[in-house]
Amino acid sequence: MFLIETRIIRADDEEGLSKAAQALKNGKLVAFPTETVYGLGANAYDPEAVKRIFEAKGRPGDNPLIVHISDKGQLKDIVLEVPENARKLMDKFWPGPLTLVLKKSDAVPDVVTAGLDTVAVRMPDNIVALRLIELSGVPVAAPSANLSGRPSPTSAMHVAKDLTGRIEYIIDGGSCSVGVESTVLDVTGDIPVILRPGGVTYEMIGEVCGKVDVYKVGAKAAEKPRSPGMKYRHYSPEADVILVEGENARVVDEINKQVSLAHEKNLKVGVLASEENAGLYKADVVLPAGSAKRPEEIASRLFDCLRKFDDLKVDIIYSETFGEKGIGRAVMNRLKKASAGKIIKV
Ligand code: AMP
Ligand code: MG
Repeated sequence: MFLIETRIIRADDEEGLSKAAQALKNGKLVAFPTETVYGLGANAYDPEAVKRIFEAKGRPGDNPLIVHISDKGQLKDIVLEVPENARKLMDKFWPGPLTLVLKKSDAVPDVVTAGLDTVAVRMPDNIVALRLIELSGVPVAAPSANLSGRPSPTSAMHVAKDLTGRIEYIIDGGSCSVGVESTVLDVTGDIPVILRPGGVTYEMIGEVCGKVDVYKVGAKAAEKPRSPGMKYRHYSPEADVILVEGENARVVDEINKQVSLAHEKNLKVGVLASEENAGLYKADVVLPAGSAKRPEEIASRLFDCLRKFDDLKVDIIYSETFGEKGIGRAVMNRLKKASAGKIIKV
C-alpha cells in the first residue's frame, strides 16, 4: 500500500527546498526539521493531503494536528480572534516551542482539527521550517513525523526509519535543538491552560499571563479530553519501559537489582541514566541522557536514546526519573507516557 519514492533533501539545497515546498502546496507530504522535533507537513487547506498524514502515520483520526505558520499575518485566515493573552505570548515566544489553541475559522478543514471548533497554531523557531512554509505559501498542518505511538523523531534518520515509502520528501536539517514537542496551551478562556508541557515552561507562561492552569486528564468525570492526543500511548520504544523513582543511591541499587533479575531470565536490559550515574550500572546497554543538572540536555537526547534501545534490540528498559524543573516537566511527561504508568518507587 505504501510504495512512494521518498526523496531526502539537504536543508541547504535551495532548489530542492523549493521543489518540496511546491509539492507540499500541491498535496504531497513533506517532513521537515523544527526546533522541537521533525514535523510531517501537508497543506492545511487541502483535506485530502491532510488525510494522507493520518494514513502515513497510522494516527487515530480524532487526534488533531498543529498548524504551522511562518508569519503572524497568516493567523487572520485561520483563527476567529486573537485574545490579549495570546498576543502577549506570541510577542514573547514566537517563533518558538509554544502552540496556541485558538477558535478556528471556516477556512481550516475539520480533518485538521478532528472536528473541534479550535485550531492549534505555532510558528517554529527553525529557519528551514520557516523557509519551507513561506515558499509553500500556505499554512502547514504537521504532527510529529513518526509512526503513531513511536518516540518522536529528532533527526532525519529517525523520520526515514519510520516513514520511508509513505511520504514524498524528507528535509534533512540535522538534529533538533529542543528535542521534545511544543507546549500546547489553550488560550480560548480567561486563564490559559497547559494541555501538554513542552519547551515553553509553566514558569515562563506564568510570567507573561500572571495565572496559568495545568490540565489534568479525567479531572472532571465524563469530560471530553481537551487535548485528544494526550490520551494515547505515546513515545514508546518496542521494549517495556519501567521507571524507578526515589533517593538517588536507592534508585541505582534497585535498578541494578532489577537488571540482575532480568539477566536471570536471559533478557537484554537497557538503562537510561543521568550522565552522573551512568557508570554505576551493569546493564547490557546504558545510555546517558545528559546531566541531571541540565534538563535541556536530557530533553534534547531523550527520544534518540529511546530509539537507540530499539536499534540495539533490548527487551526491557529501566529508567531513572529526572527533575521536573523547567523543561524537565516535559521530559517526565514523555517518560511517564512511554512507561504507560509502570513505576517502581524506592
Ligand atoms: P503532535 O503534533 O503529534 O505532537 O500532536 C499534536 C498535539 O496537539 C496533540 O496532543 C493534540 O491533541 C494537540 N492538539 C492539536 N490541536 C488541538 C486542539 N484544537 N485542541 C487541543 N489540543 C490540540
Ligand atoms: Mg506526535
